[in-house]
Amino acid sequence: MSVPRYAALDGVIVRWEKATVHASTHALHYGTGVFEGIRAYYAPDEDELYVWELDAHLERLVRNMGVLDLREGPSKDQLWDISMKLLRANGFREDTYIRPLVFLGEGTIRVRPQTQRTRWVLLTVPLGSYLGKKVVSCMVSSWTRVSNTMIPPAAKISGAYVNSLLAAMEAARAGYDEAIFLTKEGTVSEGSVENLFIVRKKKLFTPSVSEDILEGITRANVMEMARDMGLAVEERRIPRTELYHADEVFLCGTGAGIVAAGEIDAATDSPRSTRPRPCHWRRNGPCAGQRMPSQS
Ligand code: PMP
Repeated sequence: MSVPRYAALDGVIVRWEKATVHASTHALHYGTGVFEGIRAYYAPDEDELYVWELDAHLERLVRNMGVLDLREGPSKDQLWDISMKLLRANGFREDTYIRPLVFLGEGTIRVRPQTQRTRWVLLTVPLGSYLGKKVVSCMVSSWTRVSNTMIPPAAKISGAYVNSLLAAMEAARAGYDEAIFLTKEGTVSEGSVENLFIVRKKKLFTPSVSEDILEGITRANVMEMARDMGLAVEERRIPRTELYHADEVFLCGTGAGIVAAGEIDAATDSPRSTRPRPCHWRRNGPCAGQRMPSQS
C-alpha cells in the first residue's frame, strides 16, 4: 500500500504522521465514535477518481452523530469539502477508501461524557478488493449480531465493530473467508461488514431493518437495480435454513462490493457459488458516483 501523505484532523489537512490524538481520548477507551466507509474508484482512461454515493454516506454519518450526541461535529458540507481536498492532496491513482470518523476527544476518564469535545478525522487510503475474491466461503458465526437493544447496529458506532471483528476472526480461524451473523432470535442478520441477500426462484430476499442490520447504501442500490430489472425484492426475516436452500446468496457493501457466498458452513457447494449477482456494477458502473472535480 502506498502510504498517504496527508490526513485531515478537525477539518485541517495535516501530514499523515501529524494526525494524532492524546491517549486520554474518550473514543480510544470506550469506542465512542461514528464512522463511514466510502469508496472512490479510479478510472485510468480518464485519470480521475469517482466517489461512490458520497452524499448518502455523509448524510448517514451526520445522522449517526446524533445517536451518540456528538455535538458541534462537522457538517455534511465540511465533510464533503475536506474529502475532495484530501483526495486531491493525496493524489492516488488507484481505488481509494475514504474514512471519516467523528469521535469524543479528551476530557474526564468517566464513561459518561462531560467535558469532551467532538473531534473528527478523515483519511483516504488506497484499497483494492476487500475480501480479495468474487466468491467467498462463509461461516454462520457463533457470535450473535449486536442487537438494537444493546448498541444500535444501524449507527456505525466504532465500539460496535468489536462484534464484527470477533465474528470475522472466528471465521478466519475456522478457514472461512467471511462470517454471517444471526440475530439473537436466530434469524439471518448480515455479514461482518456487508448486507446479505438470498435468491430463491428469481426473487431476492434480504433481512429487514428490524434484523439488527446496518441499513446499507449498497443494499439500497441492489434493491433499486433489481426492481429496475423487473426482479421482485422482499425485505423479511430469513431463517438460517434458507441460507442452505437458496439458489444464490450474496453479500454487499461499499468496501466489499458484491461477492457471492459459495460454501456456507461447509454445507453447500452448489453451482450457485460461481455466479456473483446482480448486474449492479455492470450496468451503472462505479463512475455513476460523484465525479471528482478535475485535479487541476
Ligand atoms: N453491514 C455492516 C455491519 C457494515 O459495516 C457495512 C459497511 N458499511 C455494511 C453492512 C454495508 O453497508 P454500505 O453498503 O452502506 O457500505
